[in-house]
Amino acid sequence: MKIAIIGAGMVGSTAAFYLSQDHDVTLYDDGHGQATKAAAGIICPWFSKRRNKPWYRLANGGAHFYRDLLADLAETGIETTAYQQKTTWLLKKKPKLIDDLMAIAQKRQVDAPLIQEIHKLSPSYQQAAFPAWRYDGDLIQTDAGAVVDGQALCQDLLAGARTFGLRVKDMKVSLDKISDHEIIVKEDQESYDIVVLTSGAWLPSLLIGHDYQVDIRPQKGQLAVIQTDWDTSQIPLIMPEGEGDIIPHLDGKIFIGATHEDEKGYDLSTEPSQLADILSTAYALVPELADFPVNELKVGTRAYASDYAPFYGPIPDQANLYVASGLGSSGLTTGPLIGRELARMINGEATKLDPSDYPVGNYISRD
Ligand SMILES: Cc1cc2nc3c(=O)[nH]c(=O)nc-3n(C[C@H](O)[C@H](O)[C@H](O)COP(=O)(O)OP(=O)(O)OC[C@H]3O[C@@H](n4cnc5c(N)ncnc54)[C@H](O)[C@@H]3O)c2cc1C
Repeated sequence: MKIAIIGAGMVGSTAAFYLSQDHDVTLYDDGHGQATKAAAGIICPWFSKRRNKPWYRLANGGAHFYRDLLADLAETGIETTAYQQKTTWLLKKKPKLIDDLMAIAQKRQVDAPLIQEIHKLSPSYQQAAFPAWRYDGDLIQTDAGAVVDGQALCQDLLAGARTFGLRVKDMKVSLDKISDHEIIVKEDQESYDIVVLTSGAWLPSLLIGHDYQVDIRPQKGQLAVIQTDWDTSQIPLIMPEGEGDIIPHLDGKIFIGATHEDEKGYDLSTEPSQLADILSTAYALVPELADFPVNELKVGTRAYASDYAPFYGPIPDQANLYVASGLGSSGLTTGPLIGRELARMINGEATKLDPSDYPVGNYISRD
């Protein structure tokens, strides 16, 4: 089949990687505001208190799916370094909250083989593991978390997909004619059997002109990148209370963030003042971080549905038009699995998750 994918973030790049193996695929992306490129990279859904069970199944499945994705990528000869499993620390000021969260994660261990270990870590052990660390309470340590460089992973997936013949076009596109037999990408005047819209927060702009209502709104996110001369492979992924996560990436880079700014629409300007509180929380925990420069601010746009749930699959009245959006602040965790599931749906294969848990029809309707 001839397939177009619009949007080369985490979902679109993964879908492109799998679909290119059996189909003639073109991927369009204008690279503007992509959430994946700006993401902090935390993969650690097991301590979430969100009650939405379909979301948890997707997030837990997504965190575990990374192993398959890396193995499939390795078969094309690409050994990516974009995914690093990490010792992870969670901070909660109230001891009861620590106990509650440990209990939640321990219960989840049955369906989460990635979690080998969850325990409390006292300050002296914290200090021994990370000498620059200053904190005087117990925290939770697990071995299950991971840090992902979304941009690098997408580049590796696209390199893998190109070996199967994927074409990537660096352009902003819109849909022209949508019929049951073909969908035309306007700017290219190319006709496709199937089109997959993995355009994140920009899904409404692709559908509104075709009389669809789309329940998606943008949220601005910013984070700071500090360039240290530390061996960041030895530093844990640290999740304090609030927005100031400390995320060690490769080559001495530590990401601090991220903000969740509603009411900013699709604004992509950097606003250092929004990061001031987040940075001071990080400096209080790791004072030596303040000796290094913030050498980059990353900005991206998350996509949220009004009930904060992700959705994917074909649009109910248009079987050749697929969408995925609403991944919110956990799309690096859920995105690869969503991309894989979309490819399975298009190939007519059995899906791992029940697609009716992520119903497109709840978020997209005809005017
Ligand atoms: C600051 C920040 C921190 C985050 N941290 C984490 C984290 O730690 N862990 C986690 O799990 N998640 C995190 N997320 C969330 C995660 O990044 C997103 O949910 C996920 O990347 C969304 O992927 P996507 O493929 O749906 O969309 P995107 O990555 O936004 O990709 C959509 C792409 O479509 C393109 N596009 C849109 N319209 C068109 C068009 N008309 N023509 C051509 N191209 C188009 C865009 O340019 C973009 O490249 C974070 C997000 C932000 C912003």
